[in-house]
Amino acid sequence: MERETMCIQAGYSPKNGESRMIPIIQSTTFKYDTSEDMGKLFDLEASGYFYTRLQNPTNDMVAAKLAALEGGTAGMLTSSGQAANFFSVFNIATCGDHIVSASTIYGGTFNLFNVTMRKMGIEFTFVDPDCSDEELEKAFRPNTKAVFGETIANPALVVFDIERFAKAAHAHGVPLIVDNTFATPINCRPIEWGADIVTHSTTKYLDGHDATVGGAIIDGGKFDWMAHADKFPGLTTPDASYHGITYAEKFGLGGAFITKCTAQLMRDFGSIQAPMNAFLLNLGIESLAVRVPRHCENAQKVAEYLSGHDKVAWVTYPGLPGDKYYERAKKYMPNGTCGVISFGLKGGRSAAEAFMKKLKVAMIATHVADAHTCILHPANSTHRQLTDEELIAGGVGPDLIRLSVGIENVNDIIADIEQALA
Ligand SMILES: *Cc1c(COP(=O)(O)O)cnc(C)c1O
Repeated sequence: MERETMCIQAGYSPKNGESRMIPIIQSTTFKYDTSEDMGKLFDLEASGYFYTRLQNPTNDMVAAKLAALEGGTAGMLTSSGQAANFFSVFNIATCGDHIVSASTIYGGTFNLFNVTMRKMGIEFTFVDPDCSDEELEKAFRPNTKAVFGETIANPALVVFDIERFAKAAHAHGVPLIVDNTFATPINCRPIEWGADIVTHSTTKYLDGHDATVGGAIIDGGKFDWMAHADKFPGLTTPDASYHGITYAEKFGLGGAFITKCTAQLMRDFGSIQAPMNAFLLNLGIESLAVRVPRHCENAQKVAEYLSGHDKVAWVTYPGLPGDKYYERAKKYMPNGTCGVISFGLKGGRSAAEAFMKKLKVAMIATHVADAHTCILHPANSTHRQLTDEELIAGGVGPDLIRLSVGIENVNDIIADIEQALA
């Protein structure tokens, strides 16, 4: 199947007389004929559902669709993108371990890593995604367990050199985790470029309609945990909480990561997406392949308009020829990048605030990447907790305006910007 078809059909094929739309299994529990049947589920000897804190069939249908879209072997939904990124790292790293991460990542992920996960005893080294090979090499330690980056960084719009970071990670025997929220599998499939684990905030383009918060984790199924068994004891040695099964042996390359993540982390943290939300997410994904190109087309026109305006100091959009990441974006995302643009006005921070007050079509919202055009001043919102040095290291200056171009008529969006600038 091509991606357009997967958006509609992957993950669920109704049998004779069954509902054409994925069913919402709004049930906390599942019934079994015997305790022995149930016991097999608890031992991971049989696959099946017993309690929605761990797994739910509606969620799994949508996760299977996303796994197909990303070219992965298994997937799971989480209650948010934050939960997805936390699980993706915590599934393989624990107290005393270390992670190499791109410094240009979403502010929420940066806090998760730099504050909360540090408290759990995991160390992080943040590297400039355009650092030299020597600097990247220096970032690794014997206890490094993964490398992390975003396909297109939110909101710095840095295009991540996936192949390069995958090679570096693999040379050190660890997987590359890529947050593919902004590109979506329509524009980029990180697994094809060497990424091992892909994460999403499904809250953004995948849902696409401001309706549901959610996340997803997809395993590419290629990373050989057993070949680096000493680094990943959680996957390669017996789990006492499941009568001593070894995930990498029992579930193989394609299934070990997601099975462990479900059986341990979802069991213990319970960050499950509600089945109703998974249903809404699926509705969004059905039109993803139509919406994403329209977002890119509109954003391209808005970026070109802004870069020709005399009140605009700078514009960052990887689709603009001359953008620092134009060539890299052409390599990884030949059909377009995303609908998000960053720019600054000549008047700096105060001009940004004045301009945003005058907008009528573009709404001020702590959100990006959905059908509605929205706008945000990160230094006053998502990145408020960061120091000026951290803001600059993260590629988010105090004057930066993040504009998420929706799928309205682009003439209305440009006219709105024009009157507000005037
Ligand atoms: C929004 C976002 C997140 C966090 O996702 P939530 O669904 O808000 O928890 C993570 N990564 C990226 C790139 C994001 O844009």
